[in-house]
Amino acid sequence: PAGGAPAILQGLNEPQQQAVLATEGPLLIIAGPGSGKTRVITHRIAYMVGECDVRPWQILAVTFTNKAAREMRERLDRLLLSRSQDVTMGTFHAVCARILRRHGERVGLDRNFTIYDQDDQIDALKSAMQLADVDVKRYPPRAVLSRISAAKSVLQDSQAMARAAYDSDDEYGAHWIDTCARVYRYYEEALSRQNALDFDDLLVRTTHLLERDAEVQAQYHQRYRYLLIDEFQDTNVAQYRLAQLLTGPHRNLCVVGDPDQSIYAWRNADIGNILSFQSDYPNATVVSLGQNYRSTKNILHAADSVISKNTERIDHQLFTDNPTGDAVTLHEAFSEEDEALWAVDEVSRLSRTGRFRNGDCAIMYRINAQSRAFEDQCMRQGIPYRLVGGVRFYHRKEIKDAVCYLRVVFNPDDEVSLQRVINQPPRGLGAKSVQQLTAYAARRGLTSRQAMREVAAARAEKLTCPIEVTARAARAMADLSVTLDRLTEASRELGVADLLDRALDMTGLAKHMNAQDDGDERWENILELRGLAEDYGPSGNDTPDGLGAFLERVSLVSDVDAYEQSEDSLTLITLHQAKGLEFPVVMMAGMEEGLLPHSRSMDTLAEVEEERRLCYVGMTRAKERLYLLRSFRRRYPSTGGVTLPSRFLEELPEDVLASPALDRPPGSRADSHGLNPSRSSRNADVGIGGSYGQARRASRTRLGDGAGTGGDATRGRLRGNIDERLTEWTSSRRAPAEPEPERVPLTVGEIVRHPTFGEGVVQDVEGSGDMEQVTVNFPGAGLKRLLASLARLERG
Ligand code: ATP
Ligand code: MG
Repeated sequence: PAGGAPAILQGLNEPQQQAVLATEGPLLIIAGPGSGKTRVITHRIAYMVGECDVRPWQILAVTFTNKAAREMRERLDRLLLSRSQDVTMGTFHAVCARILRRHGERVGLDRNFTIYDQDDQIDALKSAMQLADVDVKRYPPRAVLSRISAAKSVLQDSQAMARAAYDSDDEYGAHWIDTCARVYRYYEEALSRQNALDFDDLLVRTTHLLERDAEVQAQYHQRYRYLLIDEFQDTNVAQYRLAQLLTGPHRNLCVVGDPDQSIYAWRNADIGNILSFQSDYPNATVVSLGQNYRSTKNILHAADSVISKNTERIDHQLFTDNPTGDAVTLHEAFSEEDEALWAVDEVSRLSRTGRFRNGDCAIMYRINAQSRAFEDQCMRQGIPYRLVGGVRFYHRKEIKDAVCYLRVVFNPDDEVSLQRVINQPPRGLGAKSVQQLTAYAARRGLTSRQAMREVAAARAEKLTCPIEVTARAARAMADLSVTLDRLTEASRELGVADLLDRALDMTGLAKHMNAQDDGDERWENILELRGLAEDYGPSGNDTPDGLGAFLERVSLVSDVDAYEQSEDSLTLITLHQAKGLEFPVVMMAGMEEGLLPHSRSMDTLAEVEEERRLCYVGMTRAKERLYLLRSFRRRYPSTGGVTLPSRFLEELPEDVLASPALDRPPGSRADSHGLNPSRSSRNADVGIGGSYGQARRASRTRLGDGAGTGGDATRGRLRGNIDERLTEWTSSRRAPAEPEPERVPLTVGEIVRHPTFGEGVVQDVEGSGDMEQVTVNFPGAGLKRLLASLARLERG
């Protein structure tokens, strides 16, 4: 920038500056990973506040996680020297919760509403299914819930959903949707009775509020003059609608995203929003950012080569002025334990070199269950680590119990929370008494809590209990009712921490907890919760920071939010959670068919393309070093014991994998015929992690070669270091005195059964003995190439 340019524009390239300067009117920034999209949002806010006379409270910035909002605020504080606290920042859900607490009453919502998380939703849904007379065995609640959630994400109510079912030609599909619509109606009614909202409702109800109440809408237009949305590619239809409603006649809506990083379609994100934006705001300024500041050339090239295989995408190229950097390392381990051992060893090795610290490194994986092996290994080697989402603090029983008590104190109609704590600690209110209570309440059109009050009133008057339960249960109900009412009373005066103390004491939860074997640990968790509660005051007199705000924070916290990078801890994180983050060193584990792409997402091209984007998101988190790991064996059902390398590995370019001078002896290039079991390929495998002296082992067979594709040098290199271990392992398997019966080779055309893939027909047989490989076509799982000695195939 020129000498006279504001300081805030320094450190931005030309198109980034253009985006920052375009403060008025609609703006669309579409650009690849690491190109500074998030940086532009932050600088744009700083520029508006610092240079353009915009008041901080006139700005609303929506981020994908609370953590991202927190970080943006920190950066903003640095740029503005702390004038950012008045900028509204947060996720769509947090913004909506705030709006509904203020104005929800105008659409018939009591301000003391509870926000149900997924577990709560399932509880509420199961009751709704019972009322709708829908069998939970035939219709899995999770599937029903996700169908309802899909409807809400496009602002479809239960009637509209039932109509859609009616209009459908597909008989089976129509029946399923109709069933879901029926449950949806009961579920909606239940939530409204319980004064509760689920996550989708936060969006839906806020949209309704703004659509139906012109006055409130005008108020928000007055207030928020500038809207900015990061990670726009992962917004759903309701969120986009909301953004439009919040955008006033000034049309100052800035959205930022990357279609190649859209990875939440399974949660109803709709990439179509980008197209809608373009047609809704045809005169929008469009900026694209072409320079990546995050990654080395090698990493960028590798990532680009993978994503370019997606067919449904607008091709665009990123460039970087960063150095070429180290080669991308592929490593094939024998088992998932070996994979973890190798990865954690490598992290320690890197930190010994002094070039990286543990905190620079992240291990990423497709599913949470994969973290176990890495945790074990870290503990064994004494490497500190942070597991993102691992602690699940708010899911711990003692925390959930305590929070549920507070929820019931806040919102007496919250049925789900009441049911959870009604006999916690045990007070003689078993399933049968509770059933009597809910049945009585349902008959009388009351909530359970109201019914409990009747029991308490009868008891106080020495009348017979209106509900048919034992005397002990009647007393327990009455006592609990009185206790809860007293706590509700107290909540108007007490800060949340004091209220928590009193609730734990009066309900007997504290005493009960401390009598347990693991009482100390639980108590420590409670103290942590109490620490958080200390920031929140009494809930009387409309204080925005009372119990309601505390409970909202607890409900809306996501796994990533609790995570802070630290210098000396290695990060363990799923690919989905890693979105938006960056690390000097990234290791992607489990690069196998069935894991990445995941078996649940391999049926259609669209699903595989989303998995490829997920792979791309992972790779583009890396700044300096990228490792791709795969294990030859894995105890994960969808990989079927013996794994096949991920198809994405084949899509890597030759020239950025482990540097030739170091790792690939002359002549190895000749070996690039995947399916040819040539024995002269001894050296071809050395590239796998070869730079660290690993995997310098010969290969005799083409394990892991997928059927049909062969002929790719990358594949050749994936066969690596398993051979020795395989011999070891098969011989240990054979160690028992009783010799295994001689296996008769399978023949083409024969029917076989596999424990995971089901029945299939043998297409091809190669090799013999332990090295016999069969290619089987499983109608349910596709073509698989398996090692007959390991694959537990049975003759059909
Ligand atoms: P993602 O798509 O992964 O969310 P992004 O486009 O939001 O990426 P940022 O996270 O904003 O990218 O930026 C990536 C990295 O590049 C950050 O470390 C950022 O500070 C740095 N960066 C961005 N622009 C510049 C610039 N003009 N000069 C120096 N560094 C920059
Ligand atoms: Mg970003």
